[in-house]
Amino acid sequence: MNTNKMDDPFANASKQLEEISGLIEVDPNVLVKLQEPEKVITLRVPVEMDSGETKVFTAWRSQFNSALGPYKGGIRFHEQVSLEEVKALSMWMTWKTAVLDLPLGGGKGGIKVNPKKLSESELEKLARGYMRGIYRDIGPGVDIPAPDVNTDPKIMAWMKDEYEKLTGSPAPGVITGKPVADKGSKGRDIATAQGGFYVMEKVIAAQGMEKDGLQIAIQGYGNAGETFARLAKEAGYKVVAVSDSKGGIYNESGLDITAVSEHKKKTGSVVGLDGTESVSNEDLLELAVDFLVPAALEDQINEGNAKKIKACAILELANGPVTPAADAILEKQGTLIVPDVLANAGGVTVSYFEMVQNKDDKYWKLAGVLAKLKEKMDKATTKVLQAKDEMKVSMRMAAYALAVKRVADAMESKE
Ligand code: NAD
Repeated sequence: MNTNKMDDPFANASKQLEEISGLIEVDPNVLVKLQEPEKVITLRVPVEMDSGETKVFTAWRSQFNSALGPYKGGIRFHEQVSLEEVKALSMWMTWKTAVLDLPLGGGKGGIKVNPKKLSESELEKLARGYMRGIYRDIGPGVDIPAPDVNTDPKIMAWMKDEYEKLTGSPAPGVITGKPVADKGSKGRDIATAQGGFYVMEKVIAAQGMEKDGLQIAIQGYGNAGETFARLAKEAGYKVVAVSDSKGGIYNESGLDITAVSEHKKKTGSVVGLDGTESVSNEDLLELAVDFLVPAALEDQINEGNAKKIKACAILELANGPVTPAADAILEKQGTLIVPDVLANAGGVTVSYFEMVQNKDDKYWKLAGVLAKLKEKMDKATTKVLQAKDEMKVSMRMAAYALAVKRVADAMESKE
Protein backbone atom coordinates (compact mmCIF):
# COMPACT_ATOMS: atom_id res chain seq x y z
CA MET A 1 0.00 0.00 0.00
CA ASN A 2 1.06 3.56 0.46
CA THR A 3 4.71 3.69 1.31
CA ASN A 4 4.41 7.34 2.12
CA LYS A 5 1.59 7.47 4.66
CA MET A 6 1.63 11.21 5.29
CA ASP A 7 -2.07 11.85 5.41
CA ASP A 8 -5.15 10.46 7.09
CA PRO A 9 -7.48 9.72 4.15
CA PHE A 10 -10.62 10.60 6.10
CA ALA A 11 -9.12 13.93 7.15
CA ASN A 12 -8.35 14.53 3.46
CA ALA A 13 -11.86 13.63 2.36
CA SER A 14 -13.34 15.86 5.09
CA LYS A 15 -11.09 18.75 4.05
CA GLN A 16 -12.32 18.44 0.47
CA LEU A 17 -15.95 18.55 1.69
CA GLU A 18 -15.18 21.66 3.73
CA GLU A 19 -13.74 23.38 0.64
CA ILE A 20 -16.85 22.50 -1.38
CA SER A 21 -19.18 23.90 1.24
CA GLY A 22 -17.56 27.28 0.59
CA LEU A 23 -18.33 27.02 -3.12
CA ILE A 24 -21.97 25.98 -3.20
CA GLU A 25 -25.02 26.77 -1.17
CA VAL A 26 -25.72 23.91 1.21
CA ASP A 27 -27.94 24.10 4.27
CA PRO A 28 -25.58 23.83 7.29
CA ASN A 29 -28.06 21.39 8.86
CA VAL A 30 -27.54 19.08 5.89
CA LEU A 31 -23.80 19.61 5.78
CA VAL A 32 -23.39 18.54 9.37
CA LYS A 33 -24.93 15.16 8.49
CA LEU A 34 -22.41 14.69 5.71
CA GLN A 35 -19.41 14.92 8.00
CA GLU A 36 -19.49 11.30 9.19
CA PRO A 37 -20.92 8.03 7.80
CA GLU A 38 -24.55 7.26 8.66
CA LYS A 39 -23.41 3.94 10.09
CA VAL A 40 -20.12 2.09 10.59
CA ILE A 41 -19.98 -1.60 11.44
CA THR A 42 -16.80 -2.93 13.05
CA LEU A 43 -16.36 -6.67 13.08
CA ARG A 44 -13.92 -9.26 14.30
CA VAL A 45 -13.91 -12.19 11.90
CA PRO A 46 -12.50 -15.46 13.33
CA VAL A 47 -10.96 -17.89 10.85
CA GLU A 48 -9.75 -21.38 11.60
CA MET A 49 -6.45 -21.49 9.70
CA ASP A 50 -5.14 -24.61 7.91
CA SER A 51 -2.80 -25.14 10.88
CA GLY A 52 -5.78 -25.54 13.23
CA GLU A 53 -5.02 -22.24 14.97
CA THR A 54 -7.78 -19.56 15.05
CA LYS A 55 -6.90 -16.06 13.85
CA VAL A 56 -9.19 -13.07 14.25
CA PHE A 57 -9.27 -10.35 11.58
CA THR A 58 -10.61 -6.83 12.10
CA ALA A 59 -12.99 -5.58 9.43
CA TRP A 60 -15.38 -2.72 8.72
CA ARG A 61 -18.34 -1.70 6.58
CA SER A 62 -18.95 2.04 6.38
CA GLN A 63 -22.37 3.18 5.12
CA PHE A 64 -21.79 6.82 4.36
CA ASN A 65 -24.95 8.16 2.76
CA SER A 66 -28.13 6.76 1.24
CA ALA A 67 -29.99 9.91 0.14
CA LEU A 68 -29.82 8.99 -3.55
CA GLY A 69 -30.23 5.23 -3.16
CA PRO A 70 -28.79 2.15 -1.42
CA TYR A 71 -25.20 2.23 -0.17
CA LYS A 72 -22.77 1.00 -2.81
CA GLY A 73 -19.06 0.32 -2.64
CA GLY A 74 -16.36 -2.32 -2.74
CA ILE A 75 -14.69 -4.47 -0.11
CA ARG A 76 -10.92 -4.17 0.18
CA PHE A 77 -8.60 -6.86 1.60
CA HIS A 78 -5.32 -5.24 2.64
CA GLU A 79 -3.07 -5.34 5.68
CA GLN A 80 -3.07 -1.56 5.97
CA VAL A 81 -6.83 -1.10 5.76
CA SER A 82 -7.99 1.17 8.59
CA LEU A 83 -11.25 2.62 9.82
CA GLU A 84 -10.19 6.06 8.51
CA GLU A 85 -9.47 4.63 5.08
CA VAL A 86 -12.80 2.78 4.86
CA LYS A 87 -14.69 5.89 5.98
CA ALA A 88 -12.89 8.08 3.42
CA LEU A 89 -13.53 5.60 0.63
CA SER A 90 -17.22 5.48 1.58
CA MET A 91 -17.45 9.28 1.39
CA TRP A 92 -15.76 9.27 -2.03
CA MET A 93 -18.19 6.55 -3.19
CA THR A 94 -21.08 8.83 -2.25
CA TRP A 95 -19.67 11.60 -4.48
CA LYS A 96 -18.82 9.13 -7.24
CA THR A 97 -22.29 7.65 -7.63
CA ALA A 98 -23.71 11.19 -7.49
CA VAL A 99 -21.31 12.54 -10.19
CA LEU A 100 -22.44 9.69 -12.45
CA ASP A 101 -26.07 10.45 -11.57
CA LEU A 102 -26.69 6.85 -10.47
CA PRO A 103 -29.58 6.08 -8.09
CA LEU A 104 -27.10 4.92 -5.44
CA GLY A 105 -25.49 6.13 -2.24
CA GLY A 106 -21.98 5.41 -0.97
CA GLY A 107 -20.41 2.75 1.23
CA LYS A 108 -17.16 0.79 1.54
CA GLY A 109 -15.84 -2.25 3.34
CA GLY A 110 -12.43 -3.54 4.28
CA ILE A 111 -10.67 -6.38 6.07
CA LYS A 112 -7.25 -5.83 7.62
CA VAL A 113 -5.45 -8.82 6.15
CA ASN A 114 -2.66 -9.69 3.77
CA PRO A 115 -4.64 -12.05 1.52
CA LYS A 116 -1.46 -13.25 -0.17
CA LYS A 117 -0.53 -15.03 3.08
CA LEU A 118 -3.82 -16.99 3.15
CA SER A 119 -4.56 -20.29 1.42
CA GLU A 120 -7.64 -20.41 -0.80
CA SER A 121 -9.69 -22.19 1.85
CA GLU A 122 -8.65 -19.64 4.53
CA LEU A 123 -9.62 -16.84 2.15
CA GLU A 124 -13.01 -18.43 1.54
CA LYS A 125 -13.62 -18.78 5.31
CA LEU A 126 -12.67 -15.11 5.77
CA ALA A 127 -15.00 -13.94 2.98
CA ARG A 128 -17.90 -16.02 4.31
CA GLY A 129 -17.18 -14.91 7.90
CA TYR A 130 -17.24 -11.26 6.84
CA MET A 131 -20.62 -11.80 5.19
CA ARG A 132 -21.95 -13.47 8.34
CA GLY A 133 -20.94 -10.34 10.24
CA ILE A 134 -22.64 -7.83 7.94
CA TYR A 135 -25.54 -9.70 6.32
CA ARG A 136 -28.22 -8.17 8.56
CA ASP A 137 -27.10 -4.68 7.50
CA ILE A 138 -26.86 -5.21 3.74
CA GLY A 139 -29.04 -6.55 0.92
CA PRO A 140 -30.36 -5.63 -2.52
CA GLY A 141 -31.96 -2.21 -2.07
CA VAL A 142 -30.03 -1.59 1.19
CA ASP A 143 -26.28 -1.90 0.67
CA ILE A 144 -24.65 -3.70 -2.24
CA PRO A 145 -20.92 -4.47 -1.90
CA ALA A 146 -18.53 -5.12 -4.82
CA PRO A 147 -14.85 -5.95 -5.39
CA ASP A 148 -11.99 -3.56 -4.65
CA VAL A 149 -8.26 -4.01 -4.05
CA ASN A 150 -7.40 -7.74 -3.66
CA THR A 151 -10.99 -8.95 -3.98
CA ASP A 152 -12.34 -10.54 -7.13
CA PRO A 153 -15.39 -12.23 -8.70
CA LYS A 154 -14.69 -15.50 -6.90
CA ILE A 155 -14.75 -13.77 -3.50
CA MET A 156 -17.99 -12.02 -4.51
CA ALA A 157 -19.49 -15.42 -5.44
CA TRP A 158 -18.57 -16.87 -1.99
CA MET A 159 -20.11 -13.86 -0.27
CA LYS A 160 -23.32 -14.05 -2.34
CA ASP A 161 -23.60 -17.77 -1.62
CA GLU A 162 -23.14 -17.17 2.13
CA TYR A 163 -25.78 -14.41 2.09
CA GLU A 164 -28.25 -16.67 0.28
CA LYS A 165 -27.62 -19.48 2.77
CA LEU A 166 -28.15 -17.12 5.71
CA THR A 167 -31.33 -15.53 4.33
CA GLY A 168 -32.67 -18.70 2.76
CA SER A 169 -33.51 -17.27 -0.66
CA PRO A 170 -31.76 -16.38 -3.93
CA ALA A 171 -30.43 -12.80 -3.91
CA PRO A 172 -28.11 -12.22 -6.86
CA GLY A 173 -28.50 -8.44 -6.42
CA VAL A 174 -26.86 -8.48 -2.97
CA ILE A 175 -23.39 -8.04 -4.44
CA THR A 176 -21.92 -6.97 -7.80
CA GLY A 177 -18.73 -7.91 -9.59
CA LYS A 178 -19.85 -11.55 -9.56
CA PRO A 179 -18.54 -14.02 -12.16
CA VAL A 180 -20.45 -13.74 -15.46
CA ALA A 181 -21.42 -17.40 -14.98
CA ASP A 182 -23.01 -16.53 -11.62
CA LYS A 183 -25.25 -13.59 -12.59
CA GLY A 184 -22.45 -11.07 -13.09
CA SER A 185 -22.37 -8.48 -15.87
CA LYS A 186 -20.26 -8.75 -18.96
CA GLY A 187 -17.64 -5.99 -18.96
CA ARG A 188 -17.53 -5.52 -15.17
CA ASP A 189 -13.96 -6.82 -15.08
CA ILE A 190 -12.71 -4.07 -17.41
CA ALA A 191 -15.22 -1.38 -16.46
CA THR A 192 -13.02 0.83 -14.27
CA ALA A 193 -10.25 1.08 -16.84
CA GLN A 194 -12.67 1.32 -19.75
CA GLY A 195 -14.62 4.11 -18.04
CA GLY A 196 -11.37 5.95 -17.26
CA PHE A 197 -10.30 5.55 -20.84
CA TYR A 198 -13.56 7.13 -22.13
CA VAL A 199 -13.04 10.02 -19.70
CA MET A 200 -9.42 10.51 -20.85
CA GLU A 201 -10.46 10.60 -24.52
CA LYS A 202 -13.16 13.19 -23.76
CA VAL A 203 -10.67 15.35 -21.83
CA ILE A 204 -8.06 15.08 -24.60
CA ALA A 205 -10.66 16.32 -27.11
CA ALA A 206 -11.92 19.10 -24.82
CA GLN A 207 -8.39 20.32 -24.05
CA GLY A 208 -7.37 20.14 -27.72
CA MET A 209 -4.41 17.89 -26.83
CA GLU A 210 -2.43 16.27 -29.67
CA LYS A 211 -3.39 12.57 -29.75
CA ASP A 212 -0.55 11.52 -31.96
CA GLY A 213 2.38 10.22 -29.89
CA LEU A 214 0.63 11.09 -26.62
CA GLN A 215 2.65 9.55 -23.78
CA ILE A 216 1.19 7.80 -20.76
CA ALA A 217 2.76 6.44 -17.54
CA ILE A 218 0.75 4.12 -15.30
CA GLN A 219 1.47 3.39 -11.63
CA GLY A 220 -0.03 0.02 -10.59
CA TYR A 221 -0.48 -2.96 -12.88
CA GLY A 222 -3.49 -4.69 -11.33
CA ASN A 223 -7.07 -4.93 -12.51
CA ALA A 224 -7.38 -1.21 -13.31
CA GLY A 225 -3.81 -0.39 -14.42
CA GLU A 226 -3.20 -3.39 -16.67
CA THR A 227 -6.51 -3.07 -18.51
CA PHE A 228 -5.99 0.67 -18.93
CA ALA A 229 -2.52 0.03 -20.38
CA ARG A 230 -3.98 -2.43 -22.90
CA LEU A 231 -6.80 -0.08 -23.96
CA ALA A 232 -4.42 2.87 -24.32
CA LYS A 233 -1.97 0.83 -26.39
CA GLU A 234 -4.78 -0.55 -28.61
CA ALA A 235 -5.96 3.03 -29.24
CA GLY A 236 -2.48 3.98 -30.45
CA TYR A 237 -1.20 5.90 -27.41
CA LYS A 238 2.36 5.39 -26.22
CA VAL A 239 2.43 3.73 -22.79
CA VAL A 240 6.04 4.54 -21.87
CA ALA A 241 6.09 3.32 -18.24
CA VAL A 242 4.20 1.00 -15.91
CA SER A 243 4.89 -0.24 -12.39
CA ASP A 244 3.72 -2.51 -9.60
CA SER A 245 4.62 -2.78 -5.93
CA LYS A 246 8.05 -4.23 -6.88
CA GLY A 247 9.06 -1.32 -9.15
CA GLY A 248 8.61 0.03 -12.66
CA ILE A 249 9.77 -0.25 -16.27
CA TYR A 250 10.28 2.38 -18.95
CA ASN A 251 10.75 2.51 -22.70
CA GLU A 252 10.56 5.89 -24.38
CA SER A 253 9.26 4.39 -27.65
CA GLY A 254 6.36 2.74 -25.84
CA LEU A 255 6.04 -0.62 -24.08
CA ASP A 256 4.71 -3.80 -25.67
CA ILE A 257 1.78 -4.30 -23.28
CA THR A 258 1.17 -7.93 -24.26
CA ALA A 259 4.80 -8.72 -23.43
CA VAL A 260 4.55 -6.81 -20.12
CA SER A 261 1.47 -8.81 -19.10
CA GLU A 262 3.07 -12.11 -20.08
CA HIS A 263 6.21 -11.20 -18.11
CA LYS A 264 4.12 -10.24 -15.07
CA LYS A 265 2.20 -13.52 -15.30
CA LYS A 266 5.43 -15.50 -15.47
CA THR A 267 7.50 -13.66 -12.85
CA GLY A 268 4.92 -11.94 -10.65
CA SER A 269 6.13 -8.45 -11.57
CA VAL A 270 6.53 -6.12 -14.54
CA VAL A 271 10.14 -5.50 -13.49
CA GLY A 272 12.93 -6.99 -15.57
CA LEU A 273 11.21 -7.24 -18.96
CA ASP A 274 13.78 -7.34 -21.79
CA GLY A 275 14.14 -4.10 -23.72
CA THR A 276 13.01 -1.91 -20.82
CA GLU A 277 14.83 0.27 -18.31
CA SER A 278 14.03 -0.11 -14.62
CA VAL A 279 12.51 2.90 -12.88
CA SER A 280 11.47 3.27 -9.29
CA ASN A 281 7.85 4.04 -8.46
CA GLU A 282 8.97 7.51 -7.34
CA ASP A 283 10.73 8.18 -10.68
CA LEU A 284 7.74 6.92 -12.67
CA LEU A 285 5.54 9.53 -11.03
CA GLU A 286 7.98 12.26 -12.03
CA LEU A 287 8.23 11.41 -15.75
CA ALA A 288 7.49 14.19 -18.26
CA VAL A 289 4.50 12.48 -19.91
CA ASP A 290 1.18 13.80 -21.17
CA PHE A 291 -0.95 11.66 -18.85
CA LEU A 292 0.13 10.17 -15.55
CA VAL A 293 -2.31 7.47 -14.43
CA PRO A 294 -2.03 6.45 -10.77
CA ALA A 295 -3.76 3.05 -10.52
CA ALA A 296 -2.39 1.72 -7.23
CA LEU A 297 -3.34 3.17 -3.86
CA GLU A 298 -3.92 6.51 -2.16
CA ASP A 299 -1.58 9.36 -1.17
CA GLN A 300 1.02 8.50 -3.81
CA ILE A 301 1.33 12.12 -4.94
CA ASN A 302 1.75 14.24 -1.87
CA GLU A 303 3.43 17.35 -0.51
CA GLY A 304 6.77 15.56 -0.73
CA ASN A 305 6.77 14.96 -4.50
CA ALA A 306 4.06 17.21 -6.01
CA LYS A 307 6.53 19.89 -7.12
CA LYS A 308 8.46 17.25 -9.08
CA ILE A 309 5.47 16.07 -11.11
CA LYS A 310 5.99 16.99 -14.77
CA ALA A 311 2.95 15.31 -16.37
CA CYS A 312 0.52 17.68 -18.15
CA ALA A 313 -2.47 15.79 -16.73
CA ILE A 314 -3.21 13.19 -14.06
CA LEU A 315 -6.04 10.69 -14.50
CA GLU A 316 -6.88 9.27 -11.06
CA LEU A 317 -7.79 5.63 -11.70
CA ALA A 318 -6.89 4.89 -8.06
CA ASN A 319 -8.96 6.33 -5.24
CA GLY A 320 -7.37 9.34 -3.54
CA PRO A 321 -3.88 9.10 -5.11
CA VAL A 322 -3.31 12.88 -4.81
CA THR A 323 -3.46 14.46 -1.36
CA PRO A 324 -5.16 17.87 -0.87
CA ALA A 325 -1.76 19.47 -0.18
CA ALA A 326 -0.44 18.09 -3.47
CA ASP A 327 -3.62 19.18 -5.23
CA ALA A 328 -2.95 22.81 -4.29
CA ILE A 329 0.66 22.63 -5.52
CA LEU A 330 -0.32 20.95 -8.81
CA GLU A 331 -3.10 23.42 -9.47
CA LYS A 332 -0.60 26.27 -9.16
CA GLN A 333 1.71 24.40 -11.57
CA GLY A 334 -1.18 24.14 -14.04
CA THR A 335 -1.43 20.33 -13.96
CA LEU A 336 -4.90 19.16 -14.96
CA ILE A 337 -6.23 16.57 -12.51
CA VAL A 338 -9.09 14.36 -13.64
CA PRO A 339 -10.49 13.33 -10.24
CA ASP A 340 -11.09 9.79 -9.05
CA VAL A 341 -14.81 10.34 -8.52
CA LEU A 342 -15.11 10.71 -12.28
CA ALA A 343 -12.05 8.89 -13.67
CA ASN A 344 -12.62 5.55 -11.93
CA ALA A 345 -16.43 5.59 -11.79
CA GLY A 346 -16.73 3.07 -14.63
CA GLY A 347 -16.59 0.20 -12.12
CA VAL A 348 -19.55 1.35 -10.05
CA THR A 349 -21.45 2.29 -13.20
CA VAL A 350 -21.25 -1.26 -14.57
CA SER A 351 -22.00 -2.54 -11.05
CA TYR A 352 -25.22 -0.55 -11.29
CA PHE A 353 -25.89 -2.13 -14.71
CA GLU A 354 -25.33 -5.52 -13.03
CA MET A 355 -27.98 -4.67 -10.41
CA VAL A 356 -30.43 -3.75 -13.18
CA GLN A 357 -29.72 -7.01 -15.03
CA ASN A 358 -30.16 -9.03 -11.81
CA LYS A 359 -33.48 -7.31 -11.10
CA ASP A 360 -34.82 -8.08 -14.59
CA ASP A 361 -32.99 -11.42 -14.76
CA LYS A 362 -32.03 -10.44 -18.33
CA TYR A 363 -28.39 -10.22 -19.31
CA TRP A 364 -26.86 -7.74 -21.79
CA LYS A 365 -24.24 -8.29 -24.48
CA LEU A 366 -20.78 -6.77 -23.90
CA ALA A 367 -21.27 -4.24 -26.70
CA GLY A 368 -24.49 -3.04 -25.04
CA VAL A 369 -22.79 -2.68 -21.64
CA LEU A 370 -19.90 -0.70 -23.14
CA ALA A 371 -22.19 1.56 -25.19
CA LYS A 372 -24.22 2.41 -22.06
CA LEU A 373 -21.01 2.92 -20.07
CA LYS A 374 -19.61 5.30 -22.69
CA GLU A 375 -22.83 7.30 -22.69
CA LYS A 376 -22.74 7.67 -18.87
CA MET A 377 -19.03 8.54 -18.70
CA ASP A 378 -19.23 11.04 -21.58
CA LYS A 379 -22.22 12.78 -20.05
CA ALA A 380 -20.62 13.05 -16.61
CA THR A 381 -17.31 14.29 -18.07
CA THR A 382 -19.08 16.97 -20.10
CA LYS A 383 -21.02 18.11 -17.01
CA VAL A 384 -17.88 18.29 -14.89
CA LEU A 385 -15.94 20.21 -17.56
CA GLN A 386 -18.85 22.64 -17.92
CA ALA A 387 -19.04 23.17 -14.14
CA LYS A 388 -15.26 23.68 -14.06
CA ASP A 389 -15.50 26.49 -16.62
CA GLU A 390 -18.59 28.07 -15.07
CA MET A 391 -17.29 27.99 -11.49
CA LYS A 392 -13.65 28.60 -12.47
CA VAL A 393 -12.44 25.81 -10.22
CA SER A 394 -10.47 22.58 -10.68
CA MET A 395 -12.12 19.50 -12.18
CA ARG A 396 -12.11 17.93 -8.72
CA MET A 397 -13.91 20.83 -7.12
CA ALA A 398 -16.37 20.95 -10.03
CA ALA A 399 -17.12 17.21 -9.71
CA TYR A 400 -17.51 17.45 -5.93
CA ALA A 401 -19.71 20.52 -6.23
CA LEU A 402 -22.04 18.68 -8.62
CA ALA A 403 -22.08 15.61 -6.38
CA VAL A 404 -22.51 17.32 -3.02
CA LYS A 405 -25.31 19.47 -4.47
CA ARG A 406 -27.14 16.38 -5.76
CA VAL A 407 -26.80 14.56 -2.44
CA ALA A 408 -27.68 17.64 -0.35
CA ASP A 409 -30.73 18.41 -2.51
CA ALA A 410 -31.95 14.82 -2.07
CA MET A 411 -31.44 15.09 1.70
CA GLU A 412 -33.20 18.45 1.91
CA SER A 413 -36.14 17.18 -0.14
CA LYS A 414 -36.75 14.52 2.52
CA GLU A 415 -36.75 16.97 5.44
P1 NAD B 1 -5.23 -4.45 -7.76
O1 NAD B 1 -4.95 -5.02 -6.42
O2 NAD B 1 -5.71 -5.34 -8.85
O3 NAD B 1 -3.90 -3.73 -8.31
C1 NAD B 1 -3.13 -2.83 -7.56
C2 NAD B 1 -1.79 -2.68 -8.25
O4 NAD B 1 -1.04 -1.65 -7.58
C3 NAD B 1 -0.91 -3.93 -8.23
O5 NAD B 1 -0.25 -4.04 -9.48
C4 NAD B 1 0.11 -3.63 -7.14
O6 NAD B 1 1.32 -4.32 -7.32
C5 NAD B 1 0.29 -2.15 -7.34
N1 NAD B 1 0.85 -1.43 -6.21
C6 NAD B 1 0.61 -1.59 -4.89
N2 NAD B 1 1.35 -0.73 -4.18
C7 NAD B 1 2.07 -0.01 -5.08
C8 NAD B 1 3.03 1.03 -4.97
N3 NAD B 1 3.38 1.52 -3.80
N4 NAD B 1 3.53 1.53 -6.11
C9 NAD B 1 3.17 1.03 -7.30
N5 NAD B 1 2.29 0.07 -7.47
C10 NAD B 1 1.76 -0.46 -6.36
O7 NAD B 1 -6.23 -3.23 -7.52
P2 NAD B 1 -7.18 -2.52 -8.58
O8 NAD B 1 -8.51 -3.15 -8.50
O9 NAD B 1 -6.49 -2.38 -9.89
O10 NAD B 1 -7.33 -1.09 -7.90
C11 NAD B 1 -6.31 -0.10 -8.02
C12 NAD B 1 -6.89 1.23 -7.60
O11 NAD B 1 -8.05 1.51 -8.38
C13 NAD B 1 -7.36 1.32 -6.13
O12 NAD B 1 -7.17 2.62 -5.64
C14 NAD B 1 -8.84 1.04 -6.23
O13 NAD B 1 -9.57 1.57 -5.13
C15 NAD B 1 -9.14 1.77 -7.52
N6 NAD B 1 -10.39 1.31 -8.12
C16 NAD B 1 -10.51 0.02 -8.59
C17 NAD B 1 -11.72 -0.37 -9.11
C18 NAD B 1 -11.91 -1.74 -9.70
O14 NAD B 1 -13.01 -2.00 -10.23
N7 NAD B 1 -10.90 -2.60 -9.70
C19 NAD B 1 -12.79 0.52 -9.16
C20 NAD B 1 -12.62 1.83 -8.69
C21 NAD B 1 -11.39 2.20 -8.17
